[in-house]
Formats: sequence, C-alpha cells, structure tokens
Amino acid sequence: MSGILVVAEHTRGALSDLTGELIGASTQIKDKIGGPVRVLVVGEQPDTFVEALRFEGVDEILLARTENPHFDAAASEAAVLAAAKQCEPSLILVGHSANGLSFGAGLAVCLGSGFAADVFGIDIAEHGLRVTRSGYGNKVNVEIDFPQKPIVVLTVRGATFKPPLSGGEAVVTPLQLDLESVTGRYAHEDFIEAPSSGVDIGKADFIMSIGRGIQDEKNVPRFADLADRIGATLGCSRPIADSGWLHKAHQVGLTGKVAGNCKLYLALGISGAVQHLHGMKHVETIIAVNTDPNAPIYNVATYGCVMDVFAFADALEKAIEGTSA
Ligand code: FAD
Repeated sequence: MSGILVVAEHTRGALSDLTGELIGASTQIKDKIGGPVRVLVVGEQPDTFVEALRFEGVDEILLARTENPHFDAAASEAAVLAAAKQCEPSLILVGHSANGLSFGAGLAVCLGSGFAADVFGIDIAEHGLRVTRSGYGNKVNVEIDFPQKPIVVLTVRGATFKPPLSGGEAVVTPLQLDLESVTGRYAHEDFIEAPSSGVDIGKADFIMSIGRGIQDEKNVPRFADLADRIGATLGCSRPIADSGWLHKAHQVGLTGKVAGNCKLYLALGISGAVQHLHGMKHVETIIAVNTDPNAPIYNVATYGCVMDVFAFADALEKAIEGTSA
C-alpha cells in the first residue's frame, strides 16, 4: 500500500477551501510517505471540478459519478471504499467537517484501518505515520502512531494546512461505480443559509480581537470602529459572542474559528484561555493588551502591553488622528 487518497468536498457547485487544504496536507508529506497523491471527487458532475483540483503535487484525479445532486454520506463512503480497493493508498484524508464526519469514521471501520479525527499535524516518525490532534479540551497536544496499520484514515482540521499552488499535470480517471444502488440513512432536504456576518476570521491576515476586558456591550462599536480604522478584522473571545455582543462568526478559538491566515493578532482584554489560544497562538506576531501582568495571553504574545484597553484605544485613536491631520 502506498500513496495518499484525498476526498474532495464541494457544495452547490463550488469546491470547498478545505479540499485545497487537504491536498496541501498530502503534498507536504508525499515524499516521506511515498506513492502518488490522488484526489477523489464524488458528485453529479464530478468532471466540472477537474480544473479547480489541479494543484501542484496531485498525480491523479478520480471521478465518481452519482445521480444525486447533493452530498450523500453512504455514496461517499462507498466511492472511497471502491477507490481505496483500486488504488491501495496507505493514507486517506477526509475533511473534519459536517460532510467528512458523517462517513470518515465509518470508512475506517469498513477498512479496518487506523483512524484519528480533527488532526492538525501529520508527519512520519521512526515507526511510520505520526499525527497530532488535541486532547482534554485542547489543553494538550496528543501524538498518535498507528503500529501494524497499513492504512490510516484521518479527518483533518480546516484552516490548518496551506493549499499548494494551482497547476500540475494530474491525469483524470473516471471510476465505473454503481452508486445509485447505495442507500444511506439520510436524505437531503434543504440548504439553510447561515446568517451573513461579513467576516471571515479564517482568511483575515490582521485581526484585532476583543475580550471581556472591554467590559460592556456599549463599548463594542468603539472597538469595531478602531479595528476598521487600523485595517483589522474584528475578532472576539467566546464570552463576547455568547453574550450576543458580536456575531458568532467573529469568535476565535476552539469553538470559534482558527485564525489560519493571520500574520498579526492584537488581543485586547483577553485572558488567553487555552480554548482561545487554540485559534491564534500560532500567529507570527501577537500583541496583547491586558491589565493583568500574569494573564496567560502573555505566554504566547510577541509583544505585551500591561495597560488598560481604553487607555490603549485612546492612544491609538490619537495616533491615527495625528497621522490623518
Ligand atoms: P476573561 O477570561 O474574563 O478575561 C478578561 C481579561 O481582560 C482578563 O485577563 C483581565 O485581566 C483583562 N481585563 C479586564 N479589564 C481590562 C481592562 N480594562 N484593560 C485591559 N485588560 C482588562 N473561549 C474563546 O475565546 N474561544 C473559544 O472558541 C472557546 N471555546 C471554548 C470551548 C469550551 C468547551 C470551553 C469550556 C470554553 C471555551 N472558551 C472559549 C471559553 C474560555 O475558556 C474562556 O472563558 C474565554 O476565552 C475567556 O474570554 P476572555 O479572555 O474574554 O475573558
């Protein structure tokens, strides 16, 4: 068994960002694992995704056609099982998403493979594949090996791996499968649009996040305006979103979004709980402003500023007005 099989995700005719990230995870370890990288796309018109799936490092694109225009967990599982039988990969990557979760673990059971969910690190150690995921509510990183497992299925966390550059010379292979006879337990009923928030924490390169240190909902507009003026996307800690002061889409952390593309993170009045750090501790430059010199956020901050967030906002506003005068 060799090579990697990536399962592509798409919704309503658009390939998900997660697919490029899964391919990025696979090309990153391709040389260490050995064998080709294949991408399987299951859908009513899988050939429409071929150009979007041409990333550097992808060797083959496998097309599995179904009559069903919507995602179907049972059909996806059956298609991946058939592709795995044909290609004999040593690693299968599925998104850690609503779609991926609905068949990833079942797929591993059918294959008798190793399995790990919500993986954010993949490498080869002395005895083979070693992956990293978090444990105990993200308080520790757990490294998992798969001894005696010739094949492993992973669901991979989004906004973690970078997609490779577009291009490459992948060959396209249609699979002859009868997915119509596969009946699952679910039926697609409808799409319900999530309320639009206009923010994408996963894509923002500069984030200014506010926490409970801002003290009152009435202070949110001031910090939102400040974020706007310095060109930052407004993020927040969970209590701010839970209180309804900002839309959930602004929340950074374990149950929020990971600041996957962020280069500069400004944390205002945020203590630095592990669940918040989960979404931002990897950022290259972190500036923390907090009155408590022992706040855990300072353990990950590049620059710390022990001061009141309102005094900080006063100074920043004054500096902006000074430069625009
Ligand atoms: P606090 O912890 O109350 O910190 C406020 C900080 O502001 C303090 O450090 C204080 O010193 C400082 N401060 C106060 N006044 C001022 C001032 N005037 N000027 C400067 N500093 C000031 N949290 C997340 O953020 N994201 C998540 O995704 C998330 N997921 C979770 C999932 C689970 C399963 C659980 C159990 C918890 C989760 N949490 C998450 C909550 C997390 O544990 C913390 O409770 C939360 O991050 C704390 O938010 P905070 O830092 O804004 O508030």
